[in-house]
Amino acid sequence: MDCLFCKIIAGDIPSKKVYENEYVYAFLDINPMAPVHILVVPKVHIASADEVSAENSAYVARIFEAIPQIAAEAGLANGYRVITNIGADGCQSVKHLHFHVLGGKQLPDQMA
Ligand code: 5GP
Ligand code: ZN
Repeated sequence: MDCLFCKIIAGDIPSKKVYENEYVYAFLDINPMAPVHILVVPKVHIASADEVSAENSAYVARIFEAIPQIAAEAGLANGYRVITNIGADGCQSVKHLHFHVLGGKQLPDQMA
């Protein structure tokens, strides 16, 4: 499949890994929007949060179980933000479900 994040998970495209388990892969965003900007992705191809179902939601659960450890190891004890963009209006550029973990500074108050 021609998916950038599937290629990153497979190791065909290099990435700076920060966490990995059977279900979850996490790596540094190539274009960080904050001092800490990590992408957390399922190891199966799910196009976006709009494609989450009873069949694949275990991957989402595993991601959210991993995020506290990922955040702690990144030094985000003062808080952080988790974002997922969906589709055109959500400005999703990579069509493989991913959660942005952002922190390391006071993030803007504004949501949209
Ligand atoms: P989206 O806009 O789809 O929510 O987020 C996609 C994210 O993937 C962006 O923050 C972008 O910087 C990041 N990204 C795009 N290509 C690569 C890449 O090849 N490697 C890494 N590490 N991040 C990437
Ligand atoms: Zn994929």
